[in-house]
Amino acid sequence: MKKPRVSKPIRVGSVIVGGGAPVSVQSMSKTDTRDARSTINQIRELEECGCEIIRVAVPDRQAAAAIKEIRKGISIPLVADIHFDYRLALAAMASGADGLRLNPGNIRDKQQIKKVVAAAKAREVPIRIGVNFGSLPPGKKTGRSIAACMVNMAMEQVDLLESMDFGLIKIALKAFDVPTAIEAYRSIARKTAYPLHLGITEAGLPRTGIIRSAAGIGILLYEGIGDTIRVSLSAHPREEVFTAYEILKSLNLRQRGPVLISCPSCGRSESDIVGLATKVGNYLQSVNKPVKIAVMGCVVNGPGEARAADVGIACGKGKGAIFKKGRVIRSVKESDYLRALTDEIDSL
Ligand code: SF4
Repeated sequence: MKKPRVSKPIRVGSVIVGGGAPVSVQSMSKTDTRDARSTINQIRELEECGCEIIRVAVPDRQAAAAIKEIRKGISIPLVADIHFDYRLALAAMASGADGLRLNPGNIRDKQQIKKVVAAAKAREVPIRIGVNFGSLPPGKKTGRSIAACMVNMAMEQVDLLESMDFGLIKIALKAFDVPTAIEAYRSIARKTAYPLHLGITEAGLPRTGIIRSAAGIGILLYEGIGDTIRVSLSAHPREEVFTAYEILKSLNLRQRGPVLISCPSCGRSESDIVGLATKVGNYLQSVNKPVKIAVMGCVVNGPGEARAADVGIACGKGKGAIFKKGRVIRSVKESDYLRALTDEIDSL
């Protein structure tokens, strides 16, 4: 892992982004923002999953007004996602939004931006400059690489905001194409110290979207780039939060809930390891402790992994050795594997 890039910290409500703070996890509600009750319910569910900052779409004045009620019903900072109409940004802030996301691709009028910046400054509301490949103006896509165009566009906006004496800035440069997003983030990380919000946009359905997100976000985080992340999936947002934590856990950047180490199984195994690992994985969904559990199929790698976990099993022929905190504590017969593991997990 490379050393984390030193970024300037900003505060989004109660959450510090950048400046060495833990990489925070964001998501976006998928309800109609105008339906405050449904939006609150979804955000509360995401809070329980570990979501730390929530973004809501603000397509019209009714949605901007609903932020007032939503804000009262949730505990995490709320960022208003604004496109096309600067007046919605003003209305969202008046309703209590903790942050704004502005798309420089579709709000271009300097006077309008000036009004938003003045209000954001007065309320100490940070602005995310959210450049998205899909909303680059056609003229911006010519003559240079797409990544360079995205960076250029973001930096123009940074210069504009700085010229208005505004520095509560966060930047995102999202693209579906992973190499484009990586190139853009690497480039802007060298140009500015503002914190970066990472994401691979429109990543798709979970099976492929999780992989694209892990590849793109994971590479950047490994290089020390990124202060907050959002995984975008065509799925319930709880999947986005879960995936974001799995990416962070895989890089040892955050801890949350259990980690399951399970071998893929092969011709050496004398038990149904895939079935056992699936049942243990299902059980772990209800466990809220940062513990490591290993389910291993034989003596090749089994004892080593099981010993390194908090609780583990190395299965053999008809029986398996249960490990706890590095020691074999007992041997159990195959029909008792699941029970023995869940008992030991509960006792941790
Ligand atoms: Fe195969 Fe054993 Fe490795 Fe599992 S631990 S994949 S059963 S060799």
